[in-house]
Amino acid sequence: MNKLPEFVFRTGFGADVHAFVEGRPCILGGVNIPHHLGLAGHSDADAVVHALCDAILGAMGLGDIGTWFPDNDPAFKDVDSLLLLAQVQKLMEENSCVLVNADIVLFAEEPKLKPHRQAIQNKLSEVLKCRPDQISVKASTMEKKGFVGRSEGVFSQVVVSIYGPAQIKAETPK
Ligand code: MG
Repeated sequence: MNKLPEFVFRTGFGADVHAFVEGRPCILGGVNIPHHLGLAGHSDADAVVHALCDAILGAMGLGDIGTWFPDNDPAFKDVDSLLLLAQVQKLMEENSCVLVNADIVLFAEEPKLKPHRQAIQNKLSEVLKCRPDQISVKASTMEKKGFVGRSEGVFSQVVVSIYGPAQIKAETPK
């Protein structure tokens, strides 16, 4: 078995997709973005926050968002995903982990994320108890190809680095 120091940098990756529907808000990175379509899902369908939660859980080796917050649990119906992120932040704290940085990419033809970038950085850093500049928010299109390219939904990918113990005490729920 390899010998790690007591504290290490841990990398996590998360990805999430949500489809556009009528009659729902379009919430991305915890910010309600004005758009003629919203995102479908059991929760508020915030694909950015879901991918971010998954990345952090992945870095800690603690499963995924569905394991901790099942999408068939009525408690999470239309839930504000920032509350889930706050739970994930708490899990980091309980396991002596701190977020070093997050790098977020949102693939979407629309809406444009750029005007909301600072608001998203502010909102996410508040929940993650870090500085806004530790959260990078980027957006790209899919050149009008595929699900995202046809403006049928959005796709988010997130990489995080966290600093914490080489051995995480918490266990993934069964
Ligand atoms: Mg999701």
